[in-house]
Amino acid sequence: MTHSFPSQLIDRFGRTVDYLRISITDRCDFRCVYCMAEDMTFLPRNQILSLEEIYLLAKTFVELGVKKIRITGGEPLVRKGALDLLASCGALEGLQELVLTTNGSQLVTAAPILKLANVKRLNISLDTLDAEKFKAITRTGDLEHVLNGIKAAKKIGFERIKLNAVILKNRNHSEVCDLVQFAVDNEIDISFIEEMPLGIVEKHNRAETYYSSDYIRADLAQKFTLQKISDNTGGPSDYYAVVNTQSRVGFISPHSHNFCSTCNRVRLTVEGRLLLCLGNEHSIDLKAILRSPDFTTKKLKQAIIESMEIKPEKHEFNVKEQPIILRYMNMTGG
Ligand code: SAM
Ligand code: SF4
Repeated sequence: MTHSFPSQLIDRFGRTVDYLRISITDRCDFRCVYCMAEDMTFLPRNQILSLEEIYLLAKTFVELGVKKIRITGGEPLVRKGALDLLASCGALEGLQELVLTTNGSQLVTAAPILKLANVKRLNISLDTLDAEKFKAITRTGDLEHVLNGIKAAKKIGFERIKLNAVILKNRNHSEVCDLVQFAVDNEIDISFIEEMPLGIVEKHNRAETYYSSDYIRADLAQKFTLQKISDNTGGPSDYYAVVNTQSRVGFISPHSHNFCSTCNRVRLTVEGRLLLCLGNEHSIDLKAILRSPDFTTKKLKQAIIESMEIKPEKHEFNVKEQPIILRYMNMTGG
């Protein structure tokens, strides 16, 4: 008997979900202050999805209408076999876009392989251009490696390279113009991200470091002319062209602007939990389904379709209070 499944995932608010973000590891070679604790304990191997399980889930989502997959982490490129997984996902029929978020530390060697794997676009995190501040924010990172990684990626030629910068008051907020100038000089894009209250990170008070996108926009107006682009990615980004340049600036503002009504995405955590909303705990356990003795693809598809019923309408974040979301960004994949 054949089963017919819908060719699109649609939630109860009529939003089509066609974008899946997958965290393929919780591990990372950096320890960014806003993302994880310095002495982070990582998950044991049997608790995280195998690369085969991740591929099967990616394939199933594409069969259910997902058009875009972002591979992220933790640092996706530190997982052994990540490049093979990317190549397999890049070959999935029906997938229009495979993209990657990385801290850039491995890009010098990985960039050519990513290009062959059909990765279209790269997001590379870069919060500062100052080597000492870079060390202070990432705790273990080396700015030079990342800058060389960005150079290597540029040389290979992806459809688009975008920098991601999390801006923290009194740590790197004074660098927003320099970061945009760096993007302009390299003919790439940049997004500024407001810090999100995911997990409690020791010795880091989010209420003190919060720097809103509105401040960043005002700082940039001193040096650049920004022109709004109506570029609806269904996400939390607002995009602007930097007038007279090739670059665009995005503002990712989960606090100040509501983007939930056009949300088109779901997230797969490294433990195989499908999160229906970044700011809520609504989720289903796909690993349990995959590892159940009576697993069938039909059951998996059914569970994914049914999960659309619990996708929340919207989220609320409040940096002044303790986080209600106890997971860390490296589990969820940013
Ligand atoms: N390791 C890769 C990287 O840093 O690009 C991919 C994973 S990282 C979790 C994805 C993005 O989330 C990065 O751009 C990072 O700066 C951002 N991020 C991490 N923790 C965050 C937080 N608490 N609030 C806002 N953005 C955060
Ligand atoms: Fe690692 Fe990315 Fe988190 Fe920084 S933001 S600790 S690079 S996962």
